[in-house]
Amino acid sequence: MASVEFKNVTKSFGEFTAVSDVSFDIADGEFVCLLGPSGCGKTTSLRMMAGLETPTSGHILIGGQEVTHLHPKDRNIAMVFQDYALYPHMNLADNIAYPLKVRGEPVAQRHARAKQVADVLKIGHLMDRLPSQISGGQQQRTSLARALVYPAKVYLFDEPLSNLDAKLRLEARGFLNHLQRDMGMTAVYVTHDQAEAMALATRIAVMDQGHIVQFASPIEIYRRPATTFVANFVGNPPMNLVEVEGAQVEGKLALKAEGLAIAALAMTDAIGKALAASGKLTLGVRPEHLGIAQTGATNTITAPLFANENMGPESLVTIDRGDSARVTARIFTDDHLDLSKVVTLRFSTEHVHLFDSTGKRIPA
Ligand code: ATP
Repeated sequence: MASVEFKNVTKSFGEFTAVSDVSFDIADGEFVCLLGPSGCGKTTSLRMMAGLETPTSGHILIGGQEVTHLHPKDRNIAMVFQDYALYPHMNLADNIAYPLKVRGEPVAQRHARAKQVADVLKIGHLMDRLPSQISGGQQQRTSLARALVYPAKVYLFDEPLSNLDAKLRLEARGFLNHLQRDMGMTAVYVTHDQAEAMALATRIAVMDQGHIVQFASPIEIYRRPATTFVANFVGNPPMNLVEVEGAQVEGKLALKAEGLAIAALAMTDAIGKALAASGKLTLGVRPEHLGIAQTGATNTITAPLFANENMGPESLVTIDRGDSARVTARIFTDDHLDLSKVVTLRFSTEHVHLFDSTGKRIPA
């Protein structure tokens, strides 16, 4: 296993910059997820690690060794692709054993090793089949087996679960988590599914428009999102963001917005600085930190009911503040909620997040 380092890596395609001056350091044995919306530069970053793309500028190091211009086969990495990229004319045994064949291992030895890995992944009984003769989940495990058959320094995953149905996806995610605990592999895993990143990663790099906007543990990203973009991307449903007018009143921070009743908050230097730049702030509250309250109570937000979805152990209650500015509460109850036309949601000020007018978190 080995570390992976990006030093000021930029990748442009003509005029367009897909990855912009990105630097990070992934330690040996870490499982890092590159998370972000479509087109933010995740796959391009992964392909540069693999050697399938060359950076326009910057340096890439694997295990401390410069690999920026090294051929993919000389990097000792294994990659699992979204579409599995299995060889259609080869049976599973040959598909899985392929990396060993390329490295010149004798046929008996490489088939024995392939069978061993396939057994662990519960596809050992399918070795004679062609990829077209097995299910999507089995193809996914075949592609995983092929990546694991040879001990690589770094394992790269490009949305490997996205072609699976919801149930298989959860099962495969649990399996990957188990594998990581077992092997302690260094892995970089591209996904746009925040739940997948939260479940698998030791650290998550959240990307937006070619930049890394936050690189931290899943808990840190969840509890202290660096920007409104991260707050809105991580969590299901995501954090509620309410635009507010902030002002200093009698040494405290007073916040105003339609339907919002909130006690003044303690002032800090950071809040003072944000206010000096602009009185327009954003208040964030996670859905699980909202409950149902009486109208008129403090630390509440009131608006007409938009939706009341019973999910079994919880209900999602959404109110609509107009202009599609909705606020959703996750209420942990399996009872049907009988709600009036206008609903008041309560929160505790210790659970609120504040962002400045540029969307940057204001530290507590
Ligand atoms: P997705 O989740 O949709 O795969 P991504 O975050 O992985 O998205 P990339 O595939 O890294 O995004 O692409 C980043 C941007 O670079 C996109 O706007 C894409 O259109 C562009 N891009 C990627 N490869 C090329 C290429 N070979 N030529 C031109 N533009 C490219």
